[in-house]
Amino acid sequence: MNSEESFFERDLVLIGAGHTNCLFLKMWAMKSNPSLRVTLINPDPISSYTGMLPALVAGLCAKSDAQINLFSLCRATGTRLIIDTVKKIDKKKSQIMCKTGRIVNFDLLSINIGSNSVPLINGFKKFGCSVRPLASFQERWENFLESINEKSSLVICVIGGGLASIELSFAMDIRLKETELEDFKIKIFESGKAFEKLSPNQQRYLKTKAKLRKIEIIENTTIKEVSNNGLVQKNGNLVHADFIISCIGPQPNDLFKKSKIENKDGYVCVDETLRVIGFQNAFAVGDCAHFPSEAVDKSGVYAVRQAPILHKNILKFLKNEQLIRFKPQSDYLKLIVYEDASAIFLRNGVAFSAKWVWSLKSFIDKKFITNFKKLSDMVTKDLENAQSNSQKMLCGGCGSKVGNVILESSLRKLSDPGSKHIVSEIGDDAAIIKFNSSFQALTTDHLRSFTKDVWLQSKITALHALGDIWAMGSNPEIALTNIIIPESSNEIQKRTIEEIIDGANSVFGAEGVKIVGGHTSLGKEIVIGFTLGGFSKKQPKTVDKACVGDQIILTKPLGSGVLLAGEMRFEGEGQHLKNLFDAMCQSQSSIAKVLSKVANSMTDITGFGLAGHLLNIVSKSNVGAKLFLDQVPVYPGAKNLIAKDIRSSIFENNYMYTEKMIIKTTANTDILFDPQTSGPLLATVPKDKVKGVIAAGEDFGFHCKVIGELTNGKPYIEVL
Ligand SMILES: Cc1cc2nc3c(=O)[nH]c(=O)nc-3n(C[C@H](O)[C@H](O)[C@H](O)COP(=O)(O)OP(=O)(O)OC[C@H]3O[C@@H](n4cnc5c(N)ncnc54)[C@H](O)[C@@H]3O)c2cc1C
Repeated sequence: MNSEESFFERDLVLIGAGHTNCLFLKMWAMKSNPSLRVTLINPDPISSYTGMLPALVAGLCAKSDAQINLFSLCRATGTRLIIDTVKKIDKKKSQIMCKTGRIVNFDLLSINIGSNSVPLINGFKKFGCSVRPLASFQERWENFLESINEKSSLVICVIGGGLASIELSFAMDIRLKETELEDFKIKIFESGKAFEKLSPNQQRYLKTKAKLRKIEIIENTTIKEVSNNGLVQKNGNLVHADFIISCIGPQPNDLFKKSKIENKDGYVCVDETLRVIGFQNAFAVGDCAHFPSEAVDKSGVYAVRQAPILHKNILKFLKNEQLIRFKPQSDYLKLIVYEDASAIFLRNGVAFSAKWVWSLKSFIDKKFITNFKKLSDMVTKDLENAQSNSQKMLCGGCGSKVGNVILESSLRKLSDPGSKHIVSEIGDDAAIIKFNSSFQALTTDHLRSFTKDVWLQSKITALHALGDIWAMGSNPEIALTNIIIPESSNEIQKRTIEEIIDGANSVFGAEGVKIVGGHTSLGKEIVIGFTLGGFSKKQPKTVDKACVGDQIILTKPLGSGVLLAGEMRFEGEGQHLKNLFDAMCQSQSSIAKVLSKVANSMTDITGFGLAGHLLNIVSKSNVGAKLFLDQVPVYPGAKNLIAKDIRSSIFENNYMYTEKMIIKTTANTDILFDPQTSGPLLATVPKDKVKGVIAAGEDFGFHCKVIGELTNGKPYIEVL
């Protein structure tokens, strides 16, 4: 398995977490080539397993039974995960352009981006929902289910009359029967004949089954428009619809045409070894590829069967050996979810339904997902063994900060030569130097890696470091970089540093900060840091000016420490981590400017958690604080992980703050001691200014919350 100790020489980039690429990673983990850095780029943090999608839609299985958590898969296999969408591939430069604007270099590619189902029908993009990508469909289906509570009857229209649309319709029918709905209708619209690719016997069978379930199939009908009210047929008839789904069969992704890569009607042309024609260092697999033989349908079955060939051929490619051929079978077994615990069997023209078919389908599908889970379990066991050998797992980000108690006692030994320019005390967010009438804020921060995506890590570290400058009410202007990267080939080192600088620049550029220098060295693991300077004409915001009666405001939720700690242990949902990373990437400069005008004191919450940073304010300002626990915003998923006993490395040190708190500790109060990376700003604001802050926050995309108030008492925090 790839690890920090690997000496990387080349980059293999997997575009799309389709079935083949996911299976490839599983195989790769077992028999790896440590000189290859493997990267997976996918827009979502999960990959949906097509076999289980209908069961998930029907509510017959949990999300975790139907989806692969890509954070877990990538951690278990030592893969770099980049959550992004590839917009273009530059074959000549061997570079990939992503939606976020970042560039990823590669030496070898495996493209597995599936297909779309978005029809060229007026209004569809606005009012319709495509079944592909499967992950987004599932999310929209859940949102729709939530919205139907107020309705007593509804109509779902499915455009396209193939196998996928009937299976989806059966699944939706199962699920809707479980709701409070008094009445609902599912209608399938097909421009030609439904199930045309199947035998006449199979077509008849499926139509009879649809009738039994009151699913209407309307054939020879073209839909010309989709609106808020429903579908408009070619003859002008309007069919009312509450949810419009396109299941028109696979449509090509525009990536290959845009990238000028050889394609047939938008599908990338591959030879029998799965190598892209005219693109020596690229393979393409699954739905997105056009295979020379007619036998290959756009189906998950073929995508799965291509995985061992892709694995072998990538190994052979690296060794310069002759590649092997993929030999597709002409027909394959199709198993369709029909009703709870019964499925339809389709093969060689035969069609029937039975309970044992359901059992067979469940067995095959569960095995697929379970094999991925086993991989995480294996690595977890290794980790547990390492821990029992007393090598404690160390968190990344601010979770690995040295505890405050240790720091305070060490810093006592510092001498004070006295300088007329230094006007700050140790313990504030940044050092303040006064020159004539202006103030300079200076801070430094570095973070141990919490993701293998160094671009993302660099971006988050830049925002994390800026928090100190913003919290002082200062305007950041200059940055120096401090970078440690592992040893690797010169080319990989260059690419890594470029990604780090690019990630940082994407933040600093927007904030008007210039990188003016830095220091870079080789080491055991990636560490990224920034030293920043900011300027202001006004007296900086320090932590010692908070006043009794001030309201305590938090700009973002808490929970980054426990979510990142969970990720290291293969716990937590992929979507929760994606939400966290998105929030960590949100610049707080706008809200900091608002707060710096009205707050009496301000700080940013980092490693010492809410408790530690608030205690810093109350002790320096000599006031007390009341904290309303139920008002403290928490990231989705964080409480579940706390309930599972997951905590960050620094948590125990932070827990010592309870000595200065009036608190009845429970699992719920543990969030107060959770270390934050790129955490919220914490400000104390006079009561009459709070409304303005909250309104301005909403305008800038922050849900600022009042979580307590300052009192006339000892510098303690009382948790209510
Ligand atoms: C309702 C339904 C039921 C089905 N049931 C079955 C079945 O039972 N058996 C079967 O064999 N087939 C079934 N299919 C067909 C099957 O879903 C597809 O053939 C299969 O998913 C194709 O797999 P893939 O590996 O090519 O890509 P996918 O599984 O589609 O994965 C592609 C991945 O690439 C990502 N991606 C897309 N664009 C980009 C980009 N630009 N950059 C980065 N990443 C990108 C996507 O987000 C996705 O994660 C069904 C289809 C539907 C709609």
